[in-house]
Amino acid sequence: MQPDLDFETSDDDEDEEDGEGEEQEEAVQQQQTSGKKGFFGSIVSSFAYNKPLSKADLEPILSTLRDHLIAKNVAVEIATRLCDSVATKLEGQHVNTWTGLKGFVRNALEESILRILSPNRNLNILREVQVKNDAGSPYVIVFCGVNGVGKSTNLAKIANWLLVNGQRVLVIACDTFRAGAIEQLRTHIHALKSIHEGDNGGGASKIDLFEKGYGKDSTGIAMEGIRYAANSGYQVCLVDTAGRMQGNEPLMKQLAKLIKVNEPDLTLFVGEALVGNEAVDQLVNFNKSLLDNGCRGAQNSAVSAINGIVLTKFDTIDDQVGAAISMTYITGQPIVFVGVGQTYRDLKQLNARAVVRALMK
Ligand code: GDP
Repeated sequence: MQPDLDFETSDDDEDEEDGEGEEQEEAVQQQQTSGKKGFFGSIVSSFAYNKPLSKADLEPILSTLRDHLIAKNVAVEIATRLCDSVATKLEGQHVNTWTGLKGFVRNALEESILRILSPNRNLNILREVQVKNDAGSPYVIVFCGVNGVGKSTNLAKIANWLLVNGQRVLVIACDTFRAGAIEQLRTHIHALKSIHEGDNGGGASKIDLFEKGYGKDSTGIAMEGIRYAANSGYQVCLVDTAGRMQGNEPLMKQLAKLIKVNEPDLTLFVGEALVGNEAVDQLVNFNKSLLDNGCRGAQNSAVSAINGIVLTKFDTIDDQVGAAISMTYITGQPIVFVGVGQTYRDLKQLNARAVVRALMK
């Protein structure tokens, strides 16, 4: 199975040296304003060198850092915790130069953020698909999130990525609620077919839509679709669900039922980076509602029913990258994909170091 060359892997990130991997940074640096003073510019005059760093030395630096992180959309509580962890690492360090201090703060922050952004589960979807297929079943991903965040577009981008990686995909239309939802999926599938099936000379289709119209029970449709996929040799099922406001109890119950009954391998929450902390609130409420309705996430987790995040519209947020950190911190679940535009190829993995760089600007 050939990986998509345009799709960055976490391993690439590990090997990347500072100053390299410009393309990977695009996602967070595309629109940064030039001429900003930045975090380091604002603390340069408040620091005394040539002695081990004391709590008192650190206080103004950390206070500035905290404000700076909050201004980048990191939730207040998380900014405070990040600063505490940076303080623990820096206290007592002997720093003689401005460059040295800058390096220490950057490394300490990078380490803490990397830990947040690389949570408990190292998710390798293609490997998981292989394992599931070897056991004779398709790999099932359920997409949830509120309307308008880019759920269907990013479902289509992920389908494109799976197709590039040689998978046969069945999209199951379980948004039986919103008029036009099924037609929207059909349009995406039609476009993906023309990209990926153009030259297969009448061979087996690579991507198809399973739909049963509107107003029906989404749990049953998902079940039928997954069974159809298993019998017809599809390797991955992508289940679209109704974009519901997390306050809508009947709709949340329906989603919880779909998840409980069909036991997907991955439940992805799709949220948009653009709305920052509002996306974090959506995620928290969604997750709580699913847990309250009896869902359990990865490894039967009682903490998170969601076991992965897709963060869309990352190309539109300037350097306000805080939502990425807050979402992972709160759920302990990884950001599996980042949407960075409107074409099918505009999908990336989150580069934690690029996030740190954007935060330090
Ligand atoms: P849904 O209602 O959640 O299914 O949202 P759609 O998939 O219909 O997307 C809503 C709008 O967001 C569309 O105009 C998409 O092209 C746009 N969109 C989706 N993902 C991205 C992204 O990563 N970046 C940008 N700039 N736009 C996006």
